[in-house]
Amino acid sequence: PELINQIAAGEVIERPSSVVKELVENSLDAGASRVEVDIEQGGARLIRVRDDGVGIAPDELPLAVASHATSKIGSFDDLEHVASMGFRGEALASVSSVARFALTSRQRDADAAFRVEVDGGRLQAARPAQHPPGTSVEVRDLFYNVPARRKFMRAERTEFAHIDDLMKSLALARSGVEFRLSHNGKPVRVWKAARDEQAMLVRVADVLGENFPAQSLHLDHAAAGMRLSGWVGLPTASRGQADSQFFYVNGRLVRDRVVAHAVRQAYADVLFHGRHPAFVLYLELDPAGVDVNVHPAKHEVRFREQRLVHDFLFRSLHEALAQTRA
Ligand code: ADP
Ligand code: MG
Repeated sequence: PELINQIAAGEVIERPSSVVKELVENSLDAGASRVEVDIEQGGARLIRVRDDGVGIAPDELPLAVASHATSKIGSFDDLEHVASMGFRGEALASVSSVARFALTSRQRDADAAFRVEVDGGRLQAARPAQHPPGTSVEVRDLFYNVPARRKFMRAERTEFAHIDDLMKSLALARSGVEFRLSHNGKPVRVWKAARDEQAMLVRVADVLGENFPAQSLHLDHAAAGMRLSGWVGLPTASRGQADSQFFYVNGRLVRDRVVAHAVRQAYADVLFHGRHPAFVLYLELDPAGVDVNVHPAKHEVRFREQRLVHDFLFRSLHEALAQTRA
C-alpha cells in the first residue's frame, strides 16, 4: 500500500501548494471559521494547517490517514452530486506517504486532543496531546523519501508564491472564513471574515492588490436556474491582468474554455478591445449540471449544458458591462 500511496501522491501532490490545497479544503469541509497556514522554506521544511473545525474522533484518526477508507462517496452516482470539496479520500494517505506527518485533533465538545504521526509510511499509535477544538496537520520535509520529486521543487520564493496564489483564490472563494498565512515565522496575509458585500469588496481589493481596477462594477444576475455574481473590472489600457481573473463554479476555482470564451466575447462586444480585465465572478448552478471530477488537481469542469451556461454568462456580463457605457 505504501507504493500505491506514493503513486497516488504523484498524481495529486505536485508541490507544496498542492498539499496546502488539500489540507485547507479539508478544514473548510470540517466547517472551520478560521484557518491558519504556517509555511517554512516555501513548504519544503514545514507546512502546517490549523483550523477550528469539528475535529476528528480519536478512533477515527488512523482511518483519516488510511487510503480510501474514509471516502465520502457511497456510490458512483454520488460523483454527480459532490457538494463538499473532498471526495476522493486519499489526500492524507498520499501526503503522509511522502513526508513526516502528524495529525492532531480535538472534537468540539471533547476535553482532550489526540495525535497520530506517520513517518516513512508507518502509522504510530494515537497519543493524547494538547490542542484547542479543531485540527492541525503538520507536514515536514515533503518528498524527503522521494528524491526525484524533491529535486523538482523550485526556489523557496517560487514555491511560496504558488501557496500565496492558492490562498488568494481560497480567500475569494470563502469570504466568511478567516485566513492567515505566515512564511518563516512572519505573518504574510490576514483576511478577516467578511460578513457583507462591503467587507467582501475590501477582501477582493486586498487580494487583487494593485491589479484591482479603480473602475469596477458589481453584478448579480439570476436566470434559468443559474446565478452569476461578483465584480468585473473595466479593462485599462495599461497592462494585462491575467493573474487577476478568478472564476468560481459552485465555490470552486475553475479555468474553463467555455467560461473564458463567454467572458472574452462579452468584453469584446461591449468594449471593443480585448485586454485582460480583472474580475472575480461566482457562478452557481445545480451540482448535477456540472462535473467537477474531470481531474482532481486541475481546475477543469464539464458543463452538462455548455451552450446554456455560455449564453447565460455572455448575456449577464454583456448587460452589466453595457451599463458602464450608458
Ligand atoms: P477526503 O477529504 O477526500 O475525505 P482526505 O484524505 O483529505 O480525504 O481526508 C480524510 C478524512 O479525514 C476526511 O474525510 C475527514 O473525515 C478527515 N479530516 C481530514 N482533515 C480534517 C480536518 N481538518 N478536520 C476534520 N476532519 C478532517
Ligand atoms: Mg480531502
